Amino acid sequence: QPVVGKMIEEGHVNYVLMYNMLTGIRVAVSRWGAKAKRPLADADFTSSHKYSFDIAGNELTPSVKYDFKFKDYAPNVFRELREDEFHLDPSDYLVSLTGKYILSELGSPGKSGSFFYFSRDYRFIIKTLHHGEHKFLRRVLKQYHAHLKANPHSLLSRFYGLHRVKMPHGKKIHFVVMNNLFPPHRDIHETYDLKGSTVGREYPEERAAVNPRAVLKDLNWIHRGRTLELGPEKRALLTEQIRRDVELLKEINVMDYSLLIGIHNMQRGNKDNLRRNTLKVFSPSVPPRNPAASQSSSRSEAIAMRKAMRRSDPKAIGSHPAAHLPEQDPEDNKQFIFYQDEGGYRATDESNQNMDTIYYFGIIDICTLWTAKKRMENIWKGFSNDRHKISPVPAQEYGNRFFAFMQAVMRGGEGGEKFLENPPER
Ligand code: ATP
Ligand code: CA
Ligand code: CA
Repeated sequence: QPVVGKMIEEGHVNYVLMYNMLTGIRVAVSRWGAKAKRPLADADFTSSHKYSFDIAGNELTPSVKYDFKFKDYAPNVFRELREDEFHLDPSDYLVSLTGKYILSELGSPGKSGSFFYFSRDYRFIIKTLHHGEHKFLRRVLKQYHAHLKANPHSLLSRFYGLHRVKMPHGKKIHFVVMNNLFPPHRDIHETYDLKGSTVGREYPEERAAVNPRAVLKDLNWIHRGRTLELGPEKRALLTEQIRRDVELLKEINVMDYSLLIGIHNMQRGNKDNLRRNTLKVFSPSVPPRNPAASQSSSRSEAIAMRKAMRRSDPKAIGSHPAAHLPEQDPEDNKQFIFYQDEGGYRATDESNQNMDTIYYFGIIDICTLWTAKKRMENIWKGFSNDRHKISPVPAQEYGNRFFAFMQAVMRGGEGGEKFLENPPER
């Protein structure tokens, strides 16, 4: 399964969808961004706004290439999250995501059938959601928002927007925009998706040997004897944040989420060229690398975007030359504990001294409710496996096991092998 995506160009089966998603975001977010900000009210969490786009255009929406409808959910809430909680610059967000119609498609890496798209600079990911996930996210948005306000260092997926595109033939596609946990400019030497479930949670090692971009799982982590190398200070901070995040996830009754971890080995550096943006090598639309030009070009683009936003002129936005991929760590992450070291969390030894590893992690896939369907899966898979080691278990049990696993695999914990032998109390 390729982790580096495929560029979506005109003629690609999902080109129209991508165009509609980005046009919708560009117009809705810039229009909304031109309004004065005010404190959130209850109604903001359930509100939604519809836009209708057509080839001819009208006084409210610019003319576009295709006819479609777009729905923007809880725009005030997501605006506040982006600006106040996640410290994203509004024009920067729009430029990165929609300044030019480029996304690369990762296809559908999970079993769920959701599609993933990267923004051209790899900072943002669009994930399509199933209707149930979408409904669920709307329902818990208030709790999610409150949690992030109370926990600025939360590891939960950062949701920047929730939208829907309706194609002319009536098909509705819901999607979220979220953060890419991995840096675009750095090799990730090993990737793990960890749940604390140990049934079927292994990527075949013989395939991993020839695929450095494989997403490995719990049993690979355990059998390879990995630990999270963190000194006492960093360990305590991480443990406490995972504990709090898991408390929320138990409360909102979700399961099946994971801690996604990317490991960067500083001694190996970037020489293996495993960066996700190695895509640019194949892409005719991304100009050759030139850090100096790249920075000024994206800066001038951001300025143009800001001006356009002030004029609230959606047509003016998006007509800028392509920006280049960033060559530096985004500055806006310095205030987040777990993203403070070159965009990640650097390993430390027992005396809190830096080691040569940087971790990039977060808790992803947090919209799966414990439902009757999952209960059936639990019963079914439980016939032939240990019922408490499979992925679908009730939210309380899932959260406790997840937390216990993370504790077990930190340095000083009992270790993955022990976790396998003695599963945690439920
Ligand atoms: P399933 O339900 O079968 O697990 P899914 O379609 O819900 O799959 P996710 O679990 O959300 O998909 O993600 C699948 C993979 O995509 C992850 O294992 C990871 O490799 C990548 N991925 C997901 N979210 C992010 C993110 N925020 N940053 C970087 N990579 C991500
Ligand atoms: Ca998943
Ligand atoms: Ca999922």
